[in-house]
Amino acid sequence: MKTKFDIPKTVPIKKIIVETPFVKTFIFEYELGARPGQFVNLWLPGVDEKPMSVAYCDEKEFWVTMFAVGPFSKAMHELKEGDLVGVRGPYGKGFSFEKDWRLVGMGGGYGAAPLYFLTVEAVKLGCHVDFVVGARGKEHLLYIDRVKKLKNVDIHIATDDGSVGIKGYNTVILQQLIEEAKSGSSKKIDMVYACGPEMMMKTISNICFEHGINAELSVERYMKCGFGVCGQCSVDDSGIRMCKEGPVVSNEVARKITEFGRYHRDSVGRVHEF
Ligand SMILES: Cc1cc2nc3c(=O)[nH]c(=O)nc-3n(C[C@H](O)[C@H](O)[C@H](O)COP(=O)(O)OP(=O)(O)OC[C@H]3O[C@@H](n4cnc5c(N)ncnc54)[C@H](O)[C@@H]3O)c2cc1C
Repeated sequence: MKTKFDIPKTVPIKKIIVETPFVKTFIFEYELGARPGQFVNLWLPGVDEKPMSVAYCDEKEFWVTMFAVGPFSKAMHELKEGDLVGVRGPYGKGFSFEKDWRLVGMGGGYGAAPLYFLTVEAVKLGCHVDFVVGARGKEHLLYIDRVKKLKNVDIHIATDDGSVGIKGYNTVILQQLIEEAKSGSSKKIDMVYACGPEMMMKTISNICFEHGINAELSVERYMKCGFGVCGQCSVDDSGIRMCKEGPVVSNEVARKITEFGRYHRDSVGRVHEF
């Protein structure tokens, strides 16, 4: 396995998959050696460098699933197969899981992508995964077809418009899964994992705390260096660096981050409320 590199390495895009009109998955031919929940920094010279969650990784390739929202991601969406991108990483703390566990993965937006990687690796260890995703509507759902191909996984969907699955938030499904497990009609839940919009994660944090269920959350903050030197992604009050001590943190740690679910900072430290 290759070791982590902190100087960008230029890696060709092997394949680009169009997921939705605003989302593409980039497959890079490189043995990154990432674990689920970790991220890479992608660099386009003259444009910018941004952190991106690893959506899948094996000995031959790794994937990144990206929304086109601003200058960097829109420039990435213009690239063609064979084009070169600077890659640094993998960085950060990933998700933890053990053999034969029951996992509940809670994803929203591109959060479904890192949860797919977690699911792939967890089922290899004999785990059962409830893959719970939320989206505005059917056309925004990501990774469902890939997850359907995995064994030992139940998929649960919630959409804002009710076009597929239940109408409403995916956190309603989490409540139901926890109640079933507590009543004994399904197996005990060992860990809940969340990756997606912060207000979704805040609700998940509260639900898991109230029910005494372990959880790990991927808390994203504005990141620059990716390896803990610049301090850009330090959070109030604890000061932990989300690129180094995170982005995945336990619910206990997340609940000590006073800004979690309240505000985040931009590239110059200005506060923005959620
Ligand atoms: C650990 C981590 C994993 C991420 N994984 C993914 C992913 O898998 N797919 C995906 O589409 N996006 C991911 N992002 C977000 C991504 O890094 C960029 O924020 C996003 O692509 C927007 O950049 P932009 O230049 O296109 O747009 P901009 O207009 O520059 O940014 C749009 C918004 O994105 C956020 N943002 C911008 N730059 C950063 C940064 N350096 N660090 C954190 N947030 C930033 C800000 O809230 C900003 O308002 C991740 C962010 C983090 C911190």
